[in-house]
Formats: sequence, structure tokens, C-alpha cells
Amino acid sequence: MSKKRISYIYEWRYTVYSIVKGLIVTFVNLFRKKVTLQYPEVKWDLPEGYRGMPTLPVDETKGADRCIACQACVRACPTQLITVDSHMGEDKKRVIDSFTMNIGLCMFCGMCEEVCPVDAIRMSDHYELASFTRDELLCDRAKLNQMGGVWPPAPERAAEPAESGTD
Ligand code: SF4
Ligand code: SF4
Repeated sequence: MSKKRISYIYEWRYTVYSIVKGLIVTFVNLFRKKVTLQYPEVKWDLPEGYRGMPTLPVDETKGADRCIACQACVRACPTQLITVDSHMGEDKKRVIDSFTMNIGLCMFCGMCEEVCPVDAIRMSDHYELASFTRDELLCDRAKLNQMGGVWPPAPERAAEPAESGTD
């Protein structure tokens, strides 16, 4: 047999072998558990402790978020995206003039939540933060309150009802 003919038979056998092998892989995966989701119609089940966008939930016992303008989060944030402006009130407590986060710079490390002495910042489960402009990623206090919902989050309220009114 000529060399050309041997090469042709080898290539033909290899092609059939590849097709059969590929079909077997496809067939086996038909019965495996699906790992893809029809996003955005179907959302992820987020794991416990998931760190999404940092927020300022509203403590209903105070009628506002719990921030005391201590600036600890401002100092701790590695990307320096938090700005807190305040002045001293008549009762010698700091009054917040503005609280801003540039979420476009956030790396969701959770340091701000960690250092806050009054548990004012909470990493939420918001992860759909894409926007058309950078300005939309600048979040003021009202937006951070809205995104944060009610303090503390419902699962914690159910687990630790005695702590829900503490300062
Ligand atoms: S999660 Fe990290 S990067 Fe984002 S605001 Fe908090 S400290 Fe800054
Ligand atoms: S650390 Fe907490 S209390 Fe202090 S400024 Fe930041 S959010 Fe407010």
C-alpha cells in the first residue's frame, strides 16, 4: 500500500474516533446537573456572607442610619472612595452634612463594615451595579439608605431579636 493511502486511512479513522468521542461527552453531560442560569430572569442564590455593595441601612428606632461620622470607614477604605462631611451639633454630637461613596472604585473588601464602631455600614447583596456613566456610581446618603433597606437585615432580626434596638 502506498504511503498516501495509509495516511488517508489513518486520518479517516482519527476523524471518526474524534466525532464519536465528542458525542459521548455530549451525551454524558445531558444527564449532569445544570450549572448555567437564564440570567437575568433567574438570579443567583447568594451564599451566606456574600459581600455586595456597601450600604447604610436605616435603623427605624432612630429614623435614620446609624452613622456617627467618626470617619473610621474613610480611613480604612483601601481605595479612598468614602467621603463623610460633618459639623459639631449643639448637643456636641457630630451632624452629617454628606456621606458619599464612589461605588465604581469599590473592591468589596468589607473593611468599612469591619471597622464601623456602630455597625452602620452593611455589605448588601446588591451586585448588579453596571451603569452607563461613572456619575451613576456616585452614591449619596439617601441612595445608600435606600439600597441598605432596614437595619438590621431580616435574617438577623429573626435570629437576634434582643439586639435589634441597641445602639
Ligand atoms: S468594601 Fe472595601 S473598597 Fe468598598 S467601600 Fe468598603 S472599604 Fe472601601
Ligand atoms: S465608620 Fe461607621 S460611624 Fe464611622 S463614619 Fe463610617 S459609617 Fe459612619
